Amino acid sequence: MARERLLTELAGCNSAETLLAAIFRHHPDISAPVPVEDIARRVGITDIRGLSDEVVSSSVLVDGTGVTAVISCSAALSTPRRRFAIAHQLGHFLLKTAREDGPCSARDLSENRRDTLHRKQEAQANRFAAGLLMPKPLMAASLDSLGKPAIAHVVALAASYGVTTEAAASRYLDVTPAACAILFIKHGVVHYARPSRTFPAMAIQRGDAAPSSVLEDKIDQPTAWITVEARDWLILSRDVRSPKVSMQALAKKNDLHLVMLSINAAAERRADEEAEKYATERPSFGRGVDRR
Ligand SMILES: [Zn+2]
Repeated sequence: MARERLLTELAGCNSAETLLAAIFRHHPDISAPVPVEDIARRVGITDIRGLSDEVVSSSVLVDGTGVTAVISCSAALSTPRRRFAIAHQLGHFLLKTAREDGPCSARDLSENRRDTLHRKQEAQANRFAAGLLMPKPLMAASLDSLGKPAIAHVVALAASYGVTTEAAASRYLDVTPAACAILFIKHGVVHYARPSRTFPAMAIQRGDAAPSSVLEDKIDQPTAWITVEARDWLILSRDVRSPKVSMQALAKKNDLHLVMLSINAAAERRADEEAEKYATERPSFGRGVDRR
């Protein structure tokens, strides 16, 4: 009965957000790691098959009536990537955007652009997958209990939610109220760079060389927070006081550095107020000289 009700509710949904809300209403006690295969089977996925294909890809084959489907994932996927691929394909199935022109590639599973119909549908399936594997209320509670932002939290969250570090970073930035940004630097080149909602616009982009402040460190040992040059990372306006930016890095194997930037919003507000007070209290010497 409950399953029938869920299926009826899902049929009436047409966005990632409404689908997720319906699924979580029927799974109020969900916890990490989210049982993605059980949920998929409950809503119409009859089989999850492995593809011997070496190419990293996944697909969903919907039956003629649109009620059931089979998901296929390449055997070359790691467990966290396989979980994300299943959630992504479940998203296509429930959003009725299953690809007919071939499987989804690794690029499709990290798509966030919306400038073509194809990219929009892939981005929507990814939003569904991230929201399913890392439900917002659960993530918000995890972030709360972890406390002040730290790069090691991203690695811990990836492990407890059964997702890749990149997927955990992206969701962390969606959910955190803190002003922070996360970068992945591979062989000295920025591979991923994204700010949270309250962090200023970043000057550094994918493909850029990393600033020299990201140094060699001991593997898996986060560095202390250090103050870095804001202009190395942010788009700065000449008229605005530049904020104090702190950085923490975590070196991983294969010359990968995970970097977190953080700005203390409360301290910045206080500094702005101070600067304003100083500007209004300060006598206008220049004007006095002009009047003489
Ligand atoms: Zn796709």
